[in-house]
Amino acid sequence: MAETGAAQANIGVVGLAVMGSNLARNLASREGNTVAVYNRSPERTRLLTTEHPEAGFVPSETIEDFVASLARPRTAIIMVQAGKGTDAVIDQLTALFEPGDIIVDGGNADFHDTIRREQTVRATGVNFVGAGISGGEEGALKGPSIMPGGSVEAYKTLGPILESIAAVVDGVPCVTHVGTDGAGHFVKMIHNGIEYADMQLIAEAYDLLRQVGGHSPAAIADIFAEWNTGELESYLIEITAEVLRQVDAKTGKPFVDIVLDEAGSKGTGVWTVQNALDLGVPVGGIAEAVFARAVSSHPEQRGPVRATITARPEIAVVGHTFQDDVRAALYASKIVAYAQGFDAIIAGAEKYDWNIDKGAIATIWRGGCIIRAQFLNRIKDAYANDATITSLLVDPYFAQAVADGESAWRRIVSTAALSGIPVPGFASALSYFDSLASPRLPAALVQGQRDFFGAHTYKRVDMPGTFHTLWSGDRTEIESAGSSH
Ligand code: NAP
Repeated sequence: MAETGAAQANIGVVGLAVMGSNLARNLASREGNTVAVYNRSPERTRLLTTEHPEAGFVPSETIEDFVASLARPRTAIIMVQAGKGTDAVIDQLTALFEPGDIIVDGGNADFHDTIRREQTVRATGVNFVGAGISGGEEGALKGPSIMPGGSVEAYKTLGPILESIAAVVDGVPCVTHVGTDGAGHFVKMIHNGIEYADMQLIAEAYDLLRQVGGHSPAAIADIFAEWNTGELESYLIEITAEVLRQVDAKTGKPFVDIVLDEAGSKGTGVWTVQNALDLGVPVGGIAEAVFARAVSSHPEQRGPVRATITARPEIAVVGHTFQDDVRAALYASKIVAYAQGFDAIIAGAEKYDWNIDKGAIATIWRGGCIIRAQFLNRIKDAYANDATITSLLVDPYFAQAVADGESAWRRIVSTAALSGIPVPGFASALSYFDSLASPRLPAALVQGQRDFFGAHTYKRVDMPGTFHTLWSGDRTEIESAGSSH
């Protein structure tokens, strides 16, 4: 057992609740790491070191001892409650750390906070790295997907440590230096947004198979298990089959039938949509998933509206290809959701001046995190093929995949509408695709309306320049000096 106080640990963890404890154990299990641990309430530190003597932790009961137990450059990962807790610990560490030392925030921080914190801490000469860590408790213990931001210099020290604990797929650790300051937490936020969309689409597929297809939850579990052997192979499809197969011990009913149908959230999906709105990036798939949870959580509206309705539509009759159609619609919608998520990453990188390698992001999401899937190899390949594509939908593989599923997608969305089954994810993904695919959009009419009431001007299809029609005058057109906006 290492002696407290000697500067011998190459890495430290502050905050030993479930995530911090598991991450500390993961670190300690890897060759070459000696892990210092500290928690505000010493009971947690004592419990962890007592329960896991094999880890050889270097425990401290004061932050001063913790800092003294770290070898230079001192590197500490903070895993405390996001928000004020994180700020408090950063202040304590910054006061004791020296230039060149590294503070890592592994919590679920808002990336704007990370940008602010990085600026403040950098001014003291200490490095600050906001690192998104995905994979929940199990990932933290066995190998998460890690999205660190911060400086290139800090990553030189931190990189090998994070690579030692990350999930590994095809020999490649699921960690990369995402970009400077808040880039890591930004990309983690988008990851969570995509996770919302993916889950919603899978839930819609289940609902269609159940209500229109007439399958039982157990039968749908088998269908998902089968889908999990093909292009849809993913952790989320796998666990969906597990959840659907579960039977409630108290009632003998399918577990899914005894769960209240009001979905909660911790807010990262909302952050994604808020930021996408600011960036002007259409992420309809993610937004619909966030809104779908919100609709579900308003029983005071659902009940009364349901009470006004005397009859629901008849469930449409479908043929034997229905199940394959649902799978194809799910895959096409999923491609759209990921394309939108990567668009948000591209827009964020532009706005905040981050040099983000999209292919590397797809690569580190292949393991350890909730959206891990075979499919991410396709995204990696798409960007390896051409990093400048304006949308993933342009990539030949994805363009073909969407084309292959298109008719099924349309049949599913129309069948759902005719049957009164809500499919906001499928429908919005299809509308998004159709918006990109249409040669003309009614945006031209919107520009006309804007020019009518606000003289916002418009451009013409047949000549350069910016124009305004004198709507309240003789309705002739004049060329405008300003640009159309
Ligand atoms: P948590 O419940 O979010 O936070 C509890 C920890 O924060 C305890 O160690 C607590 O210390 C400490 N803490 C709170 N306020 C503090 C303060 N002012 N000063 C010092 N310490 C303070 O813990 P968690 O679930 O393990 O999550 C840790 C972080 O990882 C969070 O940012 C969370 O969002 C993120 N995360 C969680 C998951 C997950 O699946 N749970 C996944 C990814 C990321 P005391 O023991 O003294 O109260």
